[in-house]
Amino acid sequence: MFDKISENRTLDDIFQGNEPKKGINEVSVKSILNKSKKRDSWFLLDYSLNPYLGCSFNCLYCYIRGSHYGGNTTHKLQVKSNAAEILVKQLKRRVKTKEYGLIGIASSTEPYPPVEEELKLTRSLLEIIARSKFPVSILTRSKLILRDMDILKKINENAILPPDLKPKLRGGAIISFSFSTPDEKLAKIFEPNAPTPKERLETMKKFKEEGFRTGVCFMPVLPFLSDSEKQVEKMIVLAKNYGADSILTAGLTLFGNEPTDCKTVYFKTIEKHFPELLEKTKKIFGDKFYPNTKYQRELNERANRLCKKYEIKNRIV
Ligand code: SF4
Repeated sequence: MFDKISENRTLDDIFQGNEPKKGINEVSVKSILNKSKKRDSWFLLDYSLNPYLGCSFNCLYCYIRGSHYGGNTTHKLQVKSNAAEILVKQLKRRVKTKEYGLIGIASSTEPYPPVEEELKLTRSLLEIIARSKFPVSILTRSKLILRDMDILKKINENAILPPDLKPKLRGGAIISFSFSTPDEKLAKIFEPNAPTPKERLETMKKFKEEGFRTGVCFMPVLPFLSDSEKQVEKMIVLAKNYGADSILTAGLTLFGNEPTDCKTVYFKTIEKHFPELLEKTKKIFGDKFYPNTKYQRELNERANRLCKKYEIKNRIV
């Protein structure tokens, strides 16, 4: 997919031909908009788009660290420097054939890492999407998304939805925030560089007040740390109080046994901060990358029951 990795430069540097700056790697891509074979039933996405590779929020459970997603990928952030140019071409083709569908931004990494404030790459892609009248679904942990409220409003009001989604969605933009826990101390351990859960909730509320469809992705739920009746209930109540239209819940997945793999890093973190939970956490995973069926079934039942109790949807539509 990638045909070139160059030295460190900002987007302005790239566009203006300046010398590389330290700290941001640039990557040139052949494709930025990927069409799914089939729309996924959870997020309703027909397309995915990831402006960045890697993520500086450094969540310790994140599956993009380690060897699972290609050649020991580290959390060093890479910016897709030619994304705007490629997106214009790709969307032009899709507009011509009227293949409108929700574009998931960003399905694999964070669309608003701190460097986005300076680079404005996600913003420039949203401007292109707004001009093409495609709908979007954004999943983030960052309050920086507030900066792009103006463009997102245009998308929400003017985007063309696929005919079957038209009666189900209010507008052309779905804004969702992800959480592994609503607990600030726990989040600081597992998501050291990400904005706090409170900041995410407050950001979501602002989008709700502006008429957007909003959601909470309670994923990954951390085994024995954020999965109890009380903790799931707390997340659901907060989601509802801060304006979420829906809450999607899913368990933790952990990959790999190499030193930088998320399974290794996660278990090491549990050993350091919650040694009493190490054995039982390992036990529900065994040699798999997901918790055993009994655990997953119980978590789903708990979340569904509590969503029903608090009258909040456990699906986007
Ligand atoms: S914000 Fe998302 S992509 Fe970034 S490290 Fe955390 S889980 Fe991974």
